[in-house]
This record gives sequence, C-alpha cells and structure tokens, in this order.
Amino acid sequence: MKKISSLFFAIFLIIGFVKAEDKKLVSPDGILVVTVSANNGAPTYSINYNGKLFLKESPLGMKTNIGDFSQGLILNGKVSEQKIDETYELPNIKQSKVHYVANEGVYSFLKDNKPAFDVIFRVSKNDVAFRYKVYPQKDRLSCIVNEETSGFVFPEGTTTFLTAQSKAMVGFARTMPSYEIPYKADAPMGENGQGNGYTFPCLFKVNDSGWVLISETGVDSRYCGSRLIGRAGGLYTIGFPMEEENNGNGTAAPGLALPGETPWRTITLGETLAPIVETTVPFDVVKPRYEASQKYKYTKGSWSWIIKMDGGTVYDVQKQYIDFSADMGYETVLVDALWDTQIGREKIAELAKYGATKNVGLYLWYNSNGYWNDAPQGPRGIMDNTIARRKEMAWMKSIGVRGIKVDFFGGDKQVTIKQYEDILYDANDFGIMVIFHGCTLPRGWERMYPNYAASEAILASENLFFGQRSCDYEAFNACLHPFIRNAVGSMDFGGSALNKFYNANNTPGRGSKRITSDVYALATAVLFQSGVQHFALAPNNLTDAPEWAISFMKEVPTTWDEVRFIDGYPGKYVVLARRHGEKWYVAGINAQKEPLELNVKLPMLQAGAELKLYSDDDQLNGKVSTTKMNKKQEIELTIPGNGGALLVK
Ligand code: CA
Repeated sequence: MKKISSLFFAIFLIIGFVKAEDKKLVSPDGILVVTVSANNGAPTYSINYNGKLFLKESPLGMKTNIGDFSQGLILNGKVSEQKIDETYELPNIKQSKVHYVANEGVYSFLKDNKPAFDVIFRVSKNDVAFRYKVYPQKDRLSCIVNEETSGFVFPEGTTTFLTAQSKAMVGFARTMPSYEIPYKADAPMGENGQGNGYTFPCLFKVNDSGWVLISETGVDSRYCGSRLIGRAGGLYTIGFPMEEENNGNGTAAPGLALPGETPWRTITLGETLAPIVETTVPFDVVKPRYEASQKYKYTKGSWSWIIKMDGGTVYDVQKQYIDFSADMGYETVLVDALWDTQIGREKIAELAKYGATKNVGLYLWYNSNGYWNDAPQGPRGIMDNTIARRKEMAWMKSIGVRGIKVDFFGGDKQVTIKQYEDILYDANDFGIMVIFHGCTLPRGWERMYPNYAASEAILASENLFFGQRSCDYEAFNACLHPFIRNAVGSMDFGGSALNKFYNANNTPGRGSKRITSDVYALATAVLFQSGVQHFALAPNNLTDAPEWAISFMKEVPTTWDEVRFIDGYPGKYVVLARRHGEKWYVAGINAQKEPLELNVKLPMLQAGAELKLYSDDDQLNGKVSTTKMNKKQEIELTIPGNGGALLVK
C-alpha cells in the first residue's frame, strides 16, 4: 500500500513538473482556453473551445539578427494577467458600438536567463489575439526579424477555404500581387496555394467541431504585412512578403526598434459561423494612430469606369454621373484613371464646382507609383512622394475634393505599409478620405486611421466586366466574402450592377453578361460591408431597371449598427441581417444550382411583424411584396440559384 502510494506520488511529481510549464488563459465566459507552454525549449500554444481541440500545439517565436528566439527558451513562471473591458464607437465597421471584454496574459520567454520576448495573448468570447514584445539584447536597440516561427496546427481532417498568394511582379503591368486569386472551397490541407502561400484572412473548417478564421491586425509602418504558408502535418506558419515584391526594392524582413511590438495575429473561432461573421477583433485590439482633422462622412456614390471603362473618364460623362448621383441622392462621384490627361486639372476644378451645386463631391483616382510597376495610368508619381502628394492634396482641398482612390500597390513589405500609412496621414491634414485599390487587406485600419474609407483586396466587380467566367462564379465568390474577406475589413467591391450587360449602353449581346438577378444585386449592397460605397449603377438604370430596385438602391445605408449571422455555408449560400438605426435588412443569396428553401428565424423581430420582401421567381424575375412573421418568429424564404432575397423591417 505504501509502495503504491509513493509510486502515485512519483507519477504525480513528473506530471506536476510537466504541467508546471503549461499556463492557461481562459475567456471571460470560461469556454475558450489557450494553453501556453515551452516544449523542450520551443514556445508553443494550443486552443480549446467548449472542450474541443481547435488548434493543436502550435509554434511561437521568431528568428532575429540579434538572437534565435524560437528555441532554447524558458517560460517564466510568473504570468501577469489583467481584465480588459473597453467600449468604443466606430461608424464604419459592421457594428457601431462595441463592448470588448477579454482576459490578457503576458508570457515571458527567457533565453540564457535574460528576457527575450513576451507573448501577449488576449482571449475574448470567440477571439484570440496574440503579439510579441521583443526586448533589447545587450546594447542592441534594434533588430531585423528574419523569420517568425508563429504557426497554427489544425487537427487532421480540417478543410480549407483559402485564396492563394499570387507571385509578385507578374500580371497586368507587373502589378501583382493584387490579392485577387479565386478561392478554393472545402479543399484539403497540405497544400501551399500556388507555391507562395495564402492571403489573409484564411478560413478553416475543423471537422464537425466548428470554424476558425485566421488573420492579422494592427499592421502599420512599424512592420510588414504577412501571409500564411502551408506546410505538412496541418501546420500553417506566418510568412513575410516575397523578395520580388515592389520590384525587389525594400526588405522582406521587417525591422523593429526595441523594445518593440509586432502586429496582432487573430484567431476567431466557434461552433457555428456566427462568431466569424460578427467578429470585431480586428478593431478591438488596435487604437487610433492619429486624431481625425474633421468629422468624416461615409457616403454612397456612382462611378462611370466600371461600365464605361477608360473612355468614360471625360468631362461630359463625369458631369452626367454627377447628375446621376444627385438623382440617386448619392453624395459622391468617383472619377477614375486618366482624368489628368482626359479631363485636366482646370476642368476637374469645374466639375468639383458643378458637383457642389448638387451636393455631390468628387473622389479622384491616383496611381500609387512609384518605381515598383509599369502601370501607365495617370496621375502617376504623386502618391509615392510626400512633397508632391501634399502639394496635390492642398490643391484638392482648395477645390473641395472629398477623397482619393489610390491603385496599384507594390506588396506587403514594410516600405509599402509605410506608404499606405503616409498617404492616410497626409490626406487627413487636408480632410481627404482614402480608398485603396489594387491593394492589400486592411488590417484594423478603420479604427487606426480615421479618414480610411475602404480597400479592394478582392476579386472585385471589375472582373465581372473583364470576363464571363467571373460572372459565372459571381454568386459563389459572394457567398464566401461575408465569412472571409469582408469579415475582417471594409470591402470596396464596387458592385450591385443593374445593367444586364457590361458595356457602355447595356446593349444585349455585348461584353460579359450578368447572370445574377436584380434582387441579388440589391442583396449584395447589404451583404458587402463598406462605409463608403460606389455602386456599379449607370444613368440608364433610371429607365431600364425596375423602379423598386432603383428606389432600394437610393435607400440602402452604408453604415450599420449591428450584424447577425442567420444561415449559410461558404461558397453555397448566405443569409445575414444588418441593422441601421431601428431598421433591419435581412439579405440572402444562393450560389447553388437548386433553389434554396429556408425557414429563417429572426429573433430580433416581433412575431406577427409585417416585412417588405424582395424575392425572385424561378426565372430570376424580381418582385416586391409583404410577408408576415409567424408565431415562432420565422419566415419561409425561397432563393433560386443566382438569385437573392431581401427582407426589410
Ligand atoms: Ca483589382
């Protein structure tokens, strides 16, 4: 008896010793658990949710030019924990008021008995965020991070919903990567895209346990943007930009002044897709980088380029679009590429003056270039240079320009992230809002930069013009965005076209053909979140589109107070609800061949409530009617393939 108990005691001691290395950080509701450890000197973490393993033991750490902080480390037994309880307001994201409650744990790793770095973990209801704080080593007050070993190991059988990172310096005028490679849905692990990993955010389905969305936020001029590299054994690691980006200029490895912090890597997870559609983590863990110089307005507008292309960037067409925006009650017009040569600055000033009489402001397009690609569209050589940029912005302010749209960025190197930040910061001095195009994912920028408007960073509406294949896959792609790209940042899709054909006069048989319905077009105006929107509508739609479609596009808000995931599966269908003030908009689309029949539960509305319903018949002809909620707060919806449904209350 005595022997047995001492054996138990010995086993307890061994287990106790191993366990002493493990530190647990639990979400405020106790359901999400992060375990931090040092496994034979290598820092690791794992994630459990509701007792199920979502991320297996995954690597942490980095290799720098002042030390290898991926091995030979000891986890300090002392962990500092604190509760985070903050509220903030942000009109240009999916939710206008956010109450962020999290537990924060700071885990210090020592090398040769001296502090190497801390891992700071934040755990809220369905989100984990972590970043590193790197300490000076001897007299070294700066370092180059050559590699991050940070990774994510998924359980066997996990499937992926990813977009490959494109090769750099290829494609149109060597402007890639422009983050517009098509997604693969429900694909197996063990691949690495086209050899260059994957673009954030990255969605994973962990068998029957649930869903995980991985991304990053808080990326500014003090680091580079990252991607995800696929490896064997369910492992994905943080990858830095490719050397070829930016025409090879600038370093791929970021530099840090010490002590210095890296951006946050975010992991959003849950048993359903609701936490992913509804997450605010990209904004929860960042802070504004500067104060707004004025109160910025999030507006709707029109743009000729999406239907009329380069030839439409002429004075008369832009004047017509100002009138069109005014007719729609929209406050802006986006004047796209080549206005510098096809309209000229004096005439642009005239257009701005004319627009002002109709309460329509101008957004002007600029090339970001620069020395990193061959995109010939002007104006060039302004947005890459502080002196030229500020002079131009002073001119814009003098004629009342509302914003800019800057295109063709060179990649994710620290030097390029600095360019994004510098453009935003300078623009704020002149009261100018900024849309990025041909650009990277915004990483918390809605909160960090108060004059930030939106980013493309997706295979957007222009591709519907460029080719029929994009039109054929339009609904499939749209059924991915609320769960992936648009879940973490404003998405400038520039869509909701009501033309049947992508050509200047909506002439049948010319250009690519839209195969989605008009109700679908309206539904995406709700599904795709961006505080500033320029819709692909054309003046001819005032007479050739259904009256109910035009009046909905006049009314639809671009800012939202709340979002609720209702139903859906990435790439197949999606139904979600957004609230603006007291009004709820429930939008659904279907990418499957067969009609979708759903019993939609809307717990935020009262039983018996009467709702306006926009629906499609099996020939994709839309109509408007009214419908009533039953006693169980449910409504039956039928959405044909490539069709949509909208409920408004
Ligand atoms: Ca593009």
